[in-house]
Parts: sequence; structure tokens; C-alpha cells
Amino acid sequence: MARAALPVGVVTMWQQARLLERRLETESAVTLVFEPEDWPGHLAGQHADIRLTADDGYQAVRSYSLAGPVEEGRVVFTVQRVRGGEVSTYLCDDLPVGAYVEVRGPVGGWFVWRGSDTRPVMLLAGGSGIVPLQAMVRQRRALGSRAPFRLLYSVRTPEDVIYAEEMIRPPRGDDGVDRALLFTRRALVGSRRPPERIGFADVTAHGWPAEFEPACFVCGPNGFVEVAAKLLTALGHDPHRIKTERFG
Ligand SMILES: Cc1cc2nc3c(=O)[nH]c(=O)nc-3n(C[C@H](O)[C@H](O)[C@H](O)COP(=O)(O)OP(=O)(O)OC[C@H]3O[C@@H](n4cnc5c(N)ncnc54)[C@H](O)[C@@H]3O)c2cc1C
Repeated sequence: MARAALPVGVVTMWQQARLLERRLETESAVTLVFEPEDWPGHLAGQHADIRLTADDGYQAVRSYSLAGPVEEGRVVFTVQRVRGGEVSTYLCDDLPVGAYVEVRGPVGGWFVWRGSDTRPVMLLAGGSGIVPLQAMVRQRRALGSRAPFRLLYSVRTPEDVIYAEEMIRPPRGDDGVDRALLFTRRALVGSRRPPERIGFADVTAHGWPAEFEPACFVCGPNGFVEVAAKLLTALGHDPHRIKTERFG
């Protein structure tokens, strides 16, 4: 994923990026593939800033996680539409293929998984918080890493699952990645788990025990991150091994 030995967290200059492709993930989430002029490379978990400029010069900047490794100079984001949101609605609904935005990054040097790390990894995602965590899974696959991963993904309904294809039919190379989908509003027909927020039973059943000393990454909306991080510390995970990222 990293092209050269750029210091982690270095925020490079703004550059133009052309939208090459848009893919619908769910009713409210879209994957956008951009071709920046000269992307410096990034680590799994990092994000970029996207800047939009209106005809009258008004600008808006938001952060979006990089959803996977750079491929042929292309970077991928997945944006969930926030009702009434200024930038997410434009990116999801209006930005046409072929149009340009400005991007700057990569940003962030802490919430990252390095492919050389062989320790167990526990990923806890809430909603669109899956994006940087799926980037870690994709990076693991791209590198042929054998680091054991466990992913707990809390999401409202089966229709809201982002990257559903990869979740349900994991591609080759994902051996050693265990996934649990945890629904909060409506579960799959026949599921024994009632729809509810992530709890102790979920983390105990699907996560790594604290004795395994996994690296823990938690990402999602504020409320989810608070609850999930508290669950992990209550279960004995060392707070120094729990990294969190809040989407707002
Ligand atoms: C490091 C980082 C990485 C991020 N990565 C992603 C990503 O990969 N995919 C993604 O979809 N988003 C991501 N976000 C969130 C993103 O930056 C924006 O906050 C989000 O798209 C909303 O922007 P907006 O302009 O549409 O909404 P705004 O116009 O800024 O806000 C409109 C209203 O929605 C509320 N709101 C803002 N953000 C959220 C939110 N995330 N959830 C619920 N309500 C919100 C605001 O309080 C406000 O009331 C990330 C945020 C951070 C900090």
C-alpha cells in the first residue's frame, strides 16, 4: 500500500483527483474510485481529506478513510450518505464520473495496521466505520499476511451491510479472517441473536480473549466507539492496544 518511505501521517499538498467509477454498496453508501495526479501511497487505516469547491469559491473539506490499497495509482473511498449532510450527499448522489475533486493525504499515523505485524487483530466496526477496517483486511489479503483477524461488524439491517459480497463470500486469501455481522434493528431471518447493540456476549463469542493480546481497532460513530471501547477494557484488553477512530 505504501509506495515509498514517506513518513507516516505526512499530509501532502492538495492535488486533483478524477472520479473514475462509482459503485453502489447499499442504498445509502457508495464506493468511489479516484485517480489522483500523484498519490504518495498510504497505510491501511489512514484517511484523506476531500475538498469540494463551488462555482462561487465556497469550499468544504471532509475526511474519508482509504478503503483499500492503491491499485494502479487509484484510491478508493466509501461514503455513507448522512441525511442533510453537505459533502456526503454530493459525493453519493451528484458527483459525476469524470469530474474532479481535490484530495490531500494520506492523513493519520496512529490508526494504522502494518502488514508486517503478525499479532492477532480484532476489528470492531459500526456502520460506515467498516471502511478503514476493511482496508486492513484488504491489505492483509494483498500482502498474503497470515495474521489472524477477527472482525465484528455492527450494522442496522442486512441491507445496510457495506462490502456485502466480501463479507458473505470472502475472496481467496481471507483464510484466517473471521467475521461476525451483528444487526441492531433487523436481523437475518432465523438468526438466534435478537437485533441489538453490540454487547459483552458478542465480543466474547466473536472476538479474541484479552490473553491473546490482540491489536484492537474500533471505528464508527461516536456512540458505537464509546460503547465498544468500554466493552474491550471491561473484558481486560489493555487500553494501550485499543485504537479508536470516530466518524462524527
Ligand atoms: C478520520 C475520519 C474518517 C472518516 N471516514 C469516513 C468514511 O470512510 N466514510 C464516511 O462515510 N464517512 C467518513 N467520515 C465522516 C465524514 O468525514 C463526514 O463527517 C460525513 O461524510 C458527513 O459529512 P457531511 O458534509 O455530509 O455532513 P455535515 O454537513 O458535516 O453534517 C450534517 C449533519 O450530520 C451530522 N453528522 C456529520 N457527520 C456524521 C456522521 N458520520 N454520522 C452521523 N451524523 C453525522 C452533523 O452533526 C450535522 O448535524 C470520516 C470522518 C473522520 C473524522
